[in-house]
Amino acid sequence: MGGVVGGRPRDPDDLFEAALDRACGEKMRSDCVPGAHHAGKTAASQVWGALANTKWSHVNGDAAWYSFRAAGDMIAAIVGNGTDYMDYYCSAMYPNVPEWIAKAMETEGWSHSHDDTEICSSCKKAR
Ligand SMILES: [Zn+2]
Repeated sequence: MGGVVGGRPRDPDDLFEAALDRACGEKMRSDCVPGAHHAGKTAASQVWGALANTKWSHVNGDAAWYSFRAAGDMIAAIVGNGTDYMDYYCSAMYPNVPEWIAKAMETEGWSHSHDDTEICSSCKKAR
């Protein structure tokens, strides 16, 4: 692992990560601006806000729950381009799942819930 610059490689055994890459990866990579992640406006930073303090559940019963750092690690692995978890750590308001992420993940069978949130765009709409 010593030769990996910027972060860990992709983990093909993590089914949530694979689904996230299929559903959102292209968009996350498309507006990856080095050094600009903390604006909370790039797709990748919005994905961080959608993972922090949020539980994701699959229709088959699987559940995915990531720490702030693990979420950043996973996003960096998907975006690549020399990014690491610090590029995404606390890069957006959380927990907030924008509708484009909720819809994209729904096509992969994943839905989300939180213990508590006042700011989640998707949950607000559902209320
Ligand atoms: Zn929500």
